[in-house]
Amino acid sequence: MRVWNLHHKILNLINDSETIVFYCEYAPRWPVLFLSENFSAFGYAPEKFYAQEVSYQDLIHPNDLAGLEQAVAEQADSGAPYLSKRVRLRKSDQTYAWIDIRLTFERDDADRVTHLLGKIMDITESVKSEEQVNLFAKVIQQTADFVKITDKAGYLVFVNQALMDKTGYTEQELIGKTPAVLKSEMQDQEKAKTLWETILSGEVYHNRIMNRCKDGSTYYEETTISPIFNRDGEIEYFVSTGKDVSEQVKMQQELNDLAMKDALTGLWNRRHLTEVIDAEMKRINRYGGRFGMIMFDVDYFKQINDDFGHDIGDETLVQIAKIVQKLVSETDYIGRWGGEEFLLIALELDASLTAKLAEKIREAIEEFVFPKVGQVTVSLGATVYHKNETEAQLFKRADEALYLAKRHGRNRVEVY
Ligand code: GH3
Ligand code: MG
Ligand code: MG
Repeated sequence: MRVWNLHHKILNLINDSETIVFYCEYAPRWPVLFLSENFSAFGYAPEKFYAQEVSYQDLIHPNDLAGLEQAVAEQADSGAPYLSKRVRLRKSDQTYAWIDIRLTFERDDADRVTHLLGKIMDITESVKSEEQVNLFAKVIQQTADFVKITDKAGYLVFVNQALMDKTGYTEQELIGKTPAVLKSEMQDQEKAKTLWETILSGEVYHNRIMNRCKDGSTYYEETTISPIFNRDGEIEYFVSTGKDVSEQVKMQQELNDLAMKDALTGLWNRRHLTEVIDAEMKRINRYGGRFGMIMFDVDYFKQINDDFGHDIGDETLVQIAKIVQKLVSETDYIGRWGGEEFLLIALELDASLTAKLAEKIREAIEEFVFPKVGQVTVSLGATVYHKNETEAQLFKRADEALYLAKRHGRNRVEVY
């Protein structure tokens, strides 16, 4: 009585569970001796199996049936104790469910399989989500964008093919490292700090960064980094997606150069010089400081054009630009003011240092032997900015100084 009760309880337990249990003969069409009631979840009454109106052959997907039967036959022959297989089963509504079928082989004294004890689990949902994960993984792997995933400590746990193709690094060389492997030295600390502050606070970070490939070449990446949270709302991963924008950056730089630089000499153009002067004047009026200005003009340039032609005249201007560029520091702005007239803004120089620099330029040009033309000289007018004066006042002095240099015999510096 107690035993029967226990059987009864176990059957109830099985029928209430999501695991279907069956027991059948190992004979054609697997005649069913027992099938738990919960099989009806697929829309079939177990009685149909007992009556042998339906067998597994009628329900397993045609593409899976041969594989299942072959696996069962092989495992039965090999003496294996059990088998696990994933197949599709047609439900009564004609849709298919993915099931995990586990078989235990029962053998007689001669080791021949006589019965199958089986367990069936509906795994449709997990197969579907697995397929979805696989789909996403494929998309991430195949996208032309660069994808990196790091753990919360910032170590790479995933890199996609596009990133490896671009950088020349292999998966092994990147996984476990920090994305700093890819950082260019030109990357500034301030940017890195903002990045971490942003993503650690749970926000999305967006910026253009310069990365370095394995071969040392660099590229610009337009990047978005987002934190990925776990169930507890804590940051678990960081995902970074990026696009190679090197071409755009290059084009932008070229456009900027076009707008700010003189096409012939490569020096700053008049417009940019004006902007620089404007900004420097404002800065000095507000915070103090100084700058020197040198305006210079090629002596008897008309004669050079007349004697050697316009092209040689142009080459002479290019050459003068080169000579002067070598003499100025990084904080100086040397530009072509127009025609054969140049302008130099030297930040933080006082009158005497500006005059000295002007004299250095004069000497360097005088000493240079220009191809074909020979000696070329320039006249220079030097001055410094006076706080709160207008641009017109500043230029009036520079013009005046240059005019004096011409009048006093050329190839000389005048300071005003
Ligand atoms: P000065 O010593 O008084 O400066 O005499 P100059 O002959 O240099 O002065 P002027 O202003 O009379 O002549 C400047 C000439 O420079 C006139 C113009 O044809 C020429 N010029 C202006 N821009 C260019 C240029 O881009 N290329 C060439 N080859 N010549 C230019
Ligand atoms: Mg001139
Ligand atoms: Mg001239």
